[in-house]
Amino acid sequence: MHELSIAQNIVDLVLENIAEEQRKVIAVNIKLGEISGVIPESLEFCFDVITKDTKLQGAKLNIERVSATAYCNQCDKTYQIEHLLFSCPFCFGSDIKILTGNELLISEIILSD
Ligand SMILES: [Zn+2]
Repeated sequence: MHELSIAQNIVDLVLENIAEEQRKVIAVNIKLGEISGVIPESLEFCFDVITKDTKLQGAKLNIERVSATAYCNQCDKTYQIEHLLFSCPFCFGSDIKILTGNELLISEIILSD
């Protein structure tokens, strides 16, 4: 499962970051692009499973979806990609550049007081 290795990467990164930390991790906030191909529910599930018996046990994975946007090289417009229709809605061109929507990054690690 794709999400399992992604969840593992997130957990590894967080554990690395909190190696010296005595406090407990309450939540991990991530930004997930809409066209990243990652299913949020599945990622949450994997996260819960692999954090069991680690320093992250019980931590919540908060997923913030990032909408997909693209820039059209032909008509110079920026637009939102909807329903996985990548071509430009203004000129129907396909010479486009994806600006956002592919990201998967940890935005914040929330620790207990
Ligand atoms: Zn265009």
